[in-house]
Amino acid sequence: MTVRLLNSNGIACQICGSLNEVCEALESGAGAALLAQEHVLAGGGDRLRAVLRQQPQWSDIAVILLTPPGPDTATTIDRLGQIGHMTLIKRPVQLANFITTIRSALRDRERQYGIRDYLAERNRQAETLNDALQRANAANTAKSEFLANVSHEIRTPMNAIIGLSHILARSSPLTANQRKYIDTLQTSGESLLMLINDLLDVAKIEAGGIEIETIPFQLDRMISEVASMLSVKASEKALFLTVDTADVAGRWFAGDPTRLHQIVTNLTSNAVKFTREGGVRISARRDGPGVSIAVADTGVGIDAEKVGRIFEKFTQADSTVTRQYGGTGLGLAISKGLAELMGGTITVDSRVDKGSTFAIIVPLVEVPGPESRAPSGPEAVEQGNGGHLLLAEDHQPNVLVAKTFAEMFGYTVDVADNGRQAVLMWRTGRYDLILMDVQMPEMDGLQATRAIREFERTHGRAPIPIIGMTAHALDSARERCLDAGMNDYISKPFSPGDLQARITRLLKAPAGSTVKA
Ligand code: ADP
Repeated sequence: MTVRLLNSNGIACQICGSLNEVCEALESGAGAALLAQEHVLAGGGDRLRAVLRQQPQWSDIAVILLTPPGPDTATTIDRLGQIGHMTLIKRPVQLANFITTIRSALRDRERQYGIRDYLAERNRQAETLNDALQRANAANTAKSEFLANVSHEIRTPMNAIIGLSHILARSSPLTANQRKYIDTLQTSGESLLMLINDLLDVAKIEAGGIEIETIPFQLDRMISEVASMLSVKASEKALFLTVDTADVAGRWFAGDPTRLHQIVTNLTSNAVKFTREGGVRISARRDGPGVSIAVADTGVGIDAEKVGRIFEKFTQADSTVTRQYGGTGLGLAISKGLAELMGGTITVDSRVDKGSTFAIIVPLVEVPGPESRAPSGPEAVEQGNGGHLLLAEDHQPNVLVAKTFAEMFGYTVDVADNGRQAVLMWRTGRYDLILMDVQMPEMDGLQATRAIREFERTHGRAPIPIIGMTAHALDSARERCLDAGMNDYISKPFSPGDLQARITRLLKAPAGSTVKA
């Protein structure tokens, strides 16, 4: 009779002989269950409870319970409540109420299926997005690796170009024109190298490949180094370049002086570059839990509309101005990336034709300074005193550069063109120091170094100083060299002064010491 009634109201239904059958019907997709209370309480309540509990989040199966006439006892309500959520209809049922309750339960069920489909679609989209993100990340990593490899390939010949131009510049006699050509060769080589280094920094920042150091350093000293480096350019343009570091004078801070130096150099060199009259002032003071460093200029300034974009890579505020001043638009992107890696920020305040102030705020902690400080100023380059060096290098242009440099410093040099030969030659015991290229055929520089260190250990021989040389500019290259047992590392292209300082330092240092960068 109920079946006929429901069918005649357009509601399809199926009769079940037991509560178990009801549960099976619900599990296979029935929209609602219509049950008599006595069937539910007589037994099988557990199974129904399990079906109701196991529903996914979007689902709320309608269970309509026909309750006996008369008041419901608290125990009954409690027992029913423990099974799950149900809609109660008291018998004898009122037809209209009965039909509308079932209809609304079915409509509600349809809405739930809508939500299920929506959630499934959203999950599918999230998966697609996730896939795309992973592909993009993989592409980004590939790009960074590509940049690192290309830069290695470029830095190797650059070493020869810059190195040979240094050697040529020291040869005589040179005509005025020849000297001019060599100067141009040198400055072009160096600006190309700067560009490659900038590209590499961008790639490393993006790929998370930069590790920020925390070592004690003197902020005022670092800033005066930047100022003295850029004072020549400033005075060429008749600009003042002043420094105000009274607030941090003589104080030591824990941080990454190399990277901070790089940021302040970028900002100051921009300030000098974009200023025609007046000058630049670098100041530093303690600021809350850190320090703030400001570089203020009286230059061309930046349009308010463009100021928000100058920290993006390859972005320049004004292409006409930039054509006049040169640059790639990478400096600020790198500075911002580095400042953020240090937990700091960079801000800019600028007015067209009045000037700009770039401020870096970094959380540098003040630390007690060491008792005796290292001597200040750039290290004096000393003349070599006749040591005998072994140069292990397979790339002929670089052999020419490194050998000529070393001979200029007063050393004699023998060349091995792979790691195996270097080990054999070292065994003769005729050498005071090895310059070891890392990438060589047959046996690379790392393997050769390990072999030498192993032989020294087993034969009780004094360790020979080894300086690794590679065009790989990644931080890990240095670590790999030191891990293999080298004492120091120099990245190609190197300047004659840098190479000489490292050789002299090691030849003077006690055996087995490692030189800090
Ligand atoms: P680059 O200097 O190589 O162009 P940067 O990333 O260092 O690249 O700077 C991006 C742009 O921001 C510059 O091209 C210039 O338009 C603007 N800019 C940066 N510093 C200054 C400054 N001190 N004064 C005026 N404009 C500046």
